[in-house]
Amino acid sequence: RVSEKVGAKLIGGRGTIGALASIGFVPRDATYEFIAYRNEDSERPTIDAQDVTTWDTATKPFTFLNIDGTHVLIEPHGPDPVLFGVRGDSPYHVISMGNYLANKYGAIGWIVYLTNQGTDEHRTHSGKYIPYRNVDVIGIIVSVSFDEYGHAHIKLDNGMRAITYRHLGISKELSNCVGCLVDIWGGVKPGEENTIYVEGIRVLHDREIEITNPRCPRCGGPMESLGRVGILRCKRCGFKDKLPRVISARNRWFLINPRESEYRHLMKPIERVGLEGLALYIPKPLLWVY
Ligand SMILES: [Zn+2]
Repeated sequence: RVSEKVGAKLIGGRGTIGALASIGFVPRDATYEFIAYRNEDSERPTIDAQDVTTWDTATKPFTFLNIDGTHVLIEPHGPDPVLFGVRGDSPYHVISMGNYLANKYGAIGWIVYLTNQGTDEHRTHSGKYIPYRNVDVIGIIVSVSFDEYGHAHIKLDNGMRAITYRHLGISKELSNCVGCLVDIWGGVKPGEENTIYVEGIRVLHDREIEITNPRCPRCGGPMESLGRVGILRCKRCGFKDKLPRVISARNRWFLINPRESEYRHLMKPIERVGLEGLALYIPKPLLWVY
């Protein structure tokens, strides 16, 4: 209706939604993307993983999600006109890397966009379960079980459930974390009540403790229990005494994120933590073209 009033021409449905959203985008955090375009008449060149690795190393942490092992992530698949896109927090870094690759792989032009990619813009930080929306839940892990596909099913003390899929590469770290107070965030799976598709997990508190034998007071060597209550013997010098055990926190503090290739475009990569807002305040290059 508005488009008729102002005489604008509408093409496409989702594209229009995206375009309107971008006009209304008031960023609190943002990133840059250098997008190089290709000649659509010729075949898409394959970008060499070695080139990407070299530039990834040279521009880290001011560019992100370039490569996962040898799997190049900057190149789209399919018939679109984009040759590649380099994302990052500094326009200078995305331009250095992008310009080199644009020349080498015959781009017909490039542009740098301000984007909301990798900013966690989609996170609501709310505990409300609304299908397809993002949710943050805090609770204690009461069980972690793995199904036949290797996906981890997590149960929290407040009745919430979460699934971390095997391909995210984070299931393994969870198995030792029963008892941890965690913040879990991700998408709400429609149809299944109170289940989250996990995007990230942060341990807030680990209440579990570990009990270990003390070191030998004479030589500092490791001590072993002799079976009788409280009697310990040094494995190195043979010193024997009744000594108290050492109680310490297990301290499984971790933040888990999926492997690089499993990021969806708004999810914030771990290397961006601490760089939030930089893109908005960094001086723009002298020859900035809007
Ligand atoms: Zn000793």
